[in-house]
Amino acid sequence: MPQTTPKRAEIIAIGSELLTPERVDTNSLIVTRHLNLLGVEVAAKHVIGDDRARLTEAIRTALERSDILILIGGLGPTEDDVTRDAVASALGRQLALSLEQESILLEKFRRINRTMAKNNLRQAYLIEGAEALANPHGSAPGQFFSTDRGAVALLPGPPRELEPMVEHELVPRLKPVLPPQVIRVRTFRITGIGESDLDTLIAPVYTKYTNPVTTVLSSPGDLWVHLRAQSDTEAEADALLREVGNPIAELLGDRLYSEQPDDTLDTVVARLLRQRRATVATAESVTGGLLAGRLTDTSGSSDYFLAGYVTYTDEQKHQILGVAKDLLAHHSAVSEPVAAAMAQGARARSGAIYGLSTTGYAGPSGGTEFDPVGTVYLGISGPDGDRVVRARHGGDRYRTRTLATQGALNLLRKSLLKPSARKGL
Ligand code: AMP
Ligand code: MG
Repeated sequence: MPQTTPKRAEIIAIGSELLTPERVDTNSLIVTRHLNLLGVEVAAKHVIGDDRARLTEAIRTALERSDILILIGGLGPTEDDVTRDAVASALGRQLALSLEQESILLEKFRRINRTMAKNNLRQAYLIEGAEALANPHGSAPGQFFSTDRGAVALLPGPPRELEPMVEHELVPRLKPVLPPQVIRVRTFRITGIGESDLDTLIAPVYTKYTNPVTTVLSSPGDLWVHLRAQSDTEAEADALLREVGNPIAELLGDRLYSEQPDDTLDTVVARLLRQRRATVATAESVTGGLLAGRLTDTSGSSDYFLAGYVTYTDEQKHQILGVAKDLLAHHSAVSEPVAAAMAQGARARSGAIYGLSTTGYAGPSGGTEFDPVGTVYLGISGPDGDRVVRARHGGDRYRTRTLATQGALNLLRKSLLKPSARKGL
């Protein structure tokens, strides 16, 4: 366990334009990245308009609960640039003209052959006790001062001014204020389980810990679990990640498809196909080629992807894949036997080691009482036999097709993980 209480940061982005649909606060992401590299978690961030009273109140609240406060924007020369005033009044400190900053400003204007308007002098006022942060890309200097529990920094809004200031001026001043601390992250990529089932499965483990912090993110058929551990040393942070992460990995079983944050199900399946020297062909109905698209998204896919058949009508399922007519008539195209026959057909026609199929009702129209809209059958035919899974998804056409594609890729992944799939090696 960490010996020192880790320092937490809070960020306030200031600017009325950031509260409109046209502009977004991107600066806080840059600041957060640098804070994380110093081992500092951001506990909260806010966007506040150019409003002195609201800002002053937000600064007071932030300083009561956070160690490091970063203010972004509102350092310009005009009346609506209220950050300096708000920080000074929240802390009960004075603003004083810095003669050094005044001459730096005058020099900047002289160099571009402009006379300085009087309101620009506002930018030369520093909060009592603050150090100026040089701004070679603009006029307003940043400001920094340490406090009993941490530090406060004021940074300019324009991203091209902020980014170098964070790197060259802020980070070197924050470092000595911070206890040694690091953040380490462990990422789980998961498929084949819904978000709420996933949470029910792993919450008993992660809710016992506040460090690491666990977050679950989801998109259709694809989930991320992030563990972020903060500690004095890398070794301790890694130990925390193991303590919480290992039982989670065990519970996830083969639903965990990767621990590499950059992996996708596509890249993992591609890697397995290559490792096993396996090949695949697809027979798609409901996914209309999306599955072949995913399988060919990775460079070099011709090493393992042989063919993709998109057969939408019964006639074409028969003609192209050799699905028996009476099977189609008897069971309909959306059925377990037809999914199996499609996978077999793709395999036989192409000579691939695996045939993968999809058939279903994407909606919004169609479906039957037994197989309503959202029902899909996913088939695989391979060296160890045939398998079909039926799944029913709620939601729209896009979601059904995405989940079917993801499900079919996962079926292939699981077959490739079987010991029998390693024989080719
Ligand atoms: P200011 O420092 O408030 O004068 O802002 C100057 C410029 O920087 C404006 O054009 C803003 O839109 C931009 N800006 C201010 N804050 C941010 C932010 N948090 N993220 C991205 N751009 C910003
Ligand atoms: Mg502004």
